[in-house]
Amino acid sequence: MLKNKINKQNKIWDVVVIGGGASGMMAAAVSSSRGLSVLVLDKNKSLGEKLKITGGGRCNITNNEPDIHKMLKVYGEGAPYLYSPFSIFGVKDTFTYFESRGLPLVVQARNRVFPVTEKAIDVFNVLYKEMINNNVVIQTNCTVSGFIHNDNKIININTNQGQFYAKSFILATGSMSHPETGSTGDGLVFLKDLGHSVFDSSPDIVPVAVLEDWVKSLSGTSLSFMKISFYLDGKRQFSKLGKILFTHFGLSGPLILNSAKNIKKLLDEGEVKAFIDLYPDTTLGDLEKRVIKVFDLNKNKMFKTIIKDFVPDGMHLAVAEVIDFMDLNTKVHSISKENRKEIVKLLKAMPLTIVGLMGYDRAVVVDGGVSLSEIDMKSMRSKLYENLYVTGDLLHLNRNSGGYSLQICWTTGYISGMSV
Ligand SMILES: Cc1cc2nc3c(=O)[nH]c(=O)nc-3n(C[C@H](O)[C@H](O)[C@H](O)COP(=O)(O)OP(=O)(O)OC[C@H]3O[C@@H](n4cnc5c(N)ncnc54)[C@H](O)[C@@H]3O)c2cc1C
Repeated sequence: MLKNKINKQNKIWDVVVIGGGASGMMAAAVSSSRGLSVLVLDKNKSLGEKLKITGGGRCNITNNEPDIHKMLKVYGEGAPYLYSPFSIFGVKDTFTYFESRGLPLVVQARNRVFPVTEKAIDVFNVLYKEMINNNVVIQTNCTVSGFIHNDNKIININTNQGQFYAKSFILATGSMSHPETGSTGDGLVFLKDLGHSVFDSSPDIVPVAVLEDWVKSLSGTSLSFMKISFYLDGKRQFSKLGKILFTHFGLSGPLILNSAKNIKKLLDEGEVKAFIDLYPDTTLGDLEKRVIKVFDLNKNKMFKTIIKDFVPDGMHLAVAEVIDFMDLNTKVHSISKENRKEIVKLLKAMPLTIVGLMGYDRAVVVDGGVSLSEIDMKSMRSKLYENLYVTGDLLHLNRNSGGYSLQICWTTGYISGMSV
């Protein structure tokens, strides 16, 4: 073991990859396939911990958007920087890379692509096998602490297991979301220390926290066709239609995650309320008719026993909790017209108070990262250091959920692996 360690340290590797997550493994697999000697260092005891939990363990590996302009629009201000890298390794190449290595992919709702097996571990296994077949050496429990460099070249790196030398270094330490997977923002500090401009991080694609207890009591329930509207200081700002997931702290699901950026801006400006429309495709008038019909059939029953007859599955207790203007034990025939109208209004606008976004531990994506203007996007090489390459979440790129983050890992991992 000691001999092994000394050999690794004395050697000048063609490539040292720092961080064995999605982009680092792709970079190692590709560079080693060119016959280069490659060492992967990771501070965890095993590689790819975040990759293994992507897409709830199913791994939304990319997004099958055939129109490059539409695809890149998702990356906002980063889009102009991505035309060139995506022309080298884009969505089609992701399909080819994984499918040709025995992992068929399938396109699901909203163009999201998954392995047919719906197992993130199978994506990990493709990359891991590729690295092993190409003789990549993997050193785990190895935490990189800093770079030794001259004006424009990295000489070696310091770690808890000594120094390592290489001709090229690929920095792939990820960002700060779910730090328990190893991504604790170390690479952002290294890049700053090296003189790169690094945008500050904050949780970006992240669930939101709400005040109301009824939401928390619905934890685990998901509603697939809801409309949610967000208000700032009483003024409507934007609405979204889709699936909402209730959690023990608030709201999640794709619709909420992809709204987090905008909600964050609103929270900086004032009080943010949200209203959930439980029947987005039914007008207030039609909904009232539906409620009247239920009331007519159940005139002598207590109101609380018939709520579930006119609210979506799983929501009746929550609706009961929000109705504070009448006694739930009231017999249906005694409910006033005003109260009936209030009930219907509530079904079209269940009120919520948004108190904030959840933290790094719950974020799918954290924004911030190295400025793209300081990276040569055709090679992923730093413009400040001739033998330093940067990949994946370390790049300052905003995006939505839907496979767009991993596509960046495949694209930048591949390009750096081909460029070193
Ligand atoms: C819960 C969750 C679900 C997600 N689902 C999806 C999805 O379905 N589709 C999608 O496109 N994106 C998804 N993402 C985002 C996606 O996982 C990331 O964009 C991607 O994993 C980033 O890869 P990376 O290579 O940049 O870094 P990471 O995967 O974060 O890997 C970084 C590696 O570097 C190592 N490291 C860090 N610091 C050091 C150090 N100092 N020394 C040595 N090693 C170090 C870490 O241990 C880690 O192994 C999800 C994210 C989360 C948190």
